[in-house]
Amino acid sequence: EKVKDDQYFNEIIEDFRLSVKNKDIEFNAVLELEEVDLTIDKFLFTTALFNIMENAVKYGREKKEINLKTERNKNTYKILIQDNGIGIPEKEQQKIFEKFYRVTTGDVHEVKGLGLGLFYANQVIKAHLGSIELESKPNVGTTFIITIPII
Ligand code: ATP
Ligand code: MG
Repeated sequence: EKVKDDQYFNEIIEDFRLSVKNKDIEFNAVLELEEVDLTIDKFLFTTALFNIMENAVKYGREKKEINLKTERNKNTYKILIQDNGIGIPEKEQQKIFEKFYRVTTGDVHEVKGLGLGLFYANQVIKAHLGSIELESKPNVGTTFIITIPII
């Protein structure tokens, strides 16, 4: 289905704010309000984005900060989800998209999960002809960059 980007992301922001309401998290959103039509499966795509945003909460440190940013380019649309959490070591960075993969080195602690969230997100984004990349540094944070074509 087609959704207007500003309307869609304003809903995402509202839902995410509600879901973290009782947590001490600084959440910032910077949207390029362009009224772009995005062709997405709303349910699947939203679930994929939430998996990534929930990870930003789960793998945060004290004083959590999460930034959501959108960028409109000529033929592509970028969504950036940035956190200041525990980060992901370089050698793990491609493995985290594998089914059931979880990082167990370092201080990975009592955080529970199946290791399916990013596998799912990657599959859904690929189904939208998009891609997902990340930049991450242990103890600094992680940014996931999702690119989808504007079609
Ligand atoms: P779930 O299936 O409940 O999502 P999960 O969170 O463990 O479980 P994924 O979301 O697929 O699984 O993430 C895989 C692994 O990647 C995590 O276990 C964690 O080690 C690492 N990871 C994911 N996102 C982040 C992040 N924002 N910061 C640090 N590590 C992360
Ligand atoms: Mg997860």
